Amino acid sequence: MRVMARAGRIVADALEAASAAAVVGATTADVDAAARRVIEAADATSNFLGYHGFPAVSCVSVNEEVVHGIPGSRVIEDGDVISIDCGAIVDGWHGDSAVSLIAGKARDAQDTHLVEQTRVGLWAGIAALATADRLDDVAGAIEDVAQAAQLHPLEGYVGHGIGTAMHQAPDVLNYRTRARQPKVKAGMCLAIEPMFVAGTGESTVLDDEWTVVSADGSRAAHWEHSIAVHDEGIWVLTAHDGGASELARYGIAPVAP
Ligand code: MG
Ligand code: MG
Repeated sequence: MRVMARAGRIVADALEAASAAAVVGATTADVDAAARRVIEAADATSNFLGYHGFPAVSCVSVNEEVVHGIPGSRVIEDGDVISIDCGAIVDGWHGDSAVSLIAGKARDAQDTHLVEQTRVGLWAGIAALATADRLDDVAGAIEDVAQAAQLHPLEGYVGHGIGTAMHQAPDVLNYRTRARQPKVKAGMCLAIEPMFVAGTGESTVLDDEWTVVSADGSRAAHWEHSIAVHDEGIWVLTAHDGGASELARYGIAPVAP
């Protein structure tokens, strides 16, 4: 878990750099380049680049694009909602995290609400994990935030286990289902990643075969962290403080693995 924590810190740094690069007038390729420089400087490897042929170290998804947007020549405009998803590998161990932000001035209060409440959904899910018996508790906590905020979790897209591969069992749902979810156990590392849409939770995939867009064209946000569950508690691997500052409001103190 210590090596995963190092991979996680590199992802945190890469996302900070990518977020700083996501300014009005920059291209989504500029955002990706900023993340790439951090990953290379840290002597880490990208787990996105080449993943089923994916051509970049990050996904940059704009407005109605929810996830899996391919960085390129698209120029970021004032008020765009930008979701950046990035990962890295250190000594075979993976990290995976995502943030959303608004470039320039927010178009309206709804966009600000969307980005902020998706972030709240992430931390509510992480907080639930700290005391969860089963992953149903995480899914329920995330869904409750979406419902209270009048947003919809993207249907059919979920978080995942992470470790020696980016995507491992179990799935980590963002909404309740009838099927009982796996028990939470020490030694699990999970990527919790709520994707909330302002409209319905339905989506389609663009002709590039990657970019997931909301079916009704409404805007979306995506936040993600990789979290370790161990005997002493939880630790957010992709946050520099292990999640301490965000989890304090839930009365949870993360413990380094
Ligand atoms: Mg991710
Ligand atoms: Mg992920």
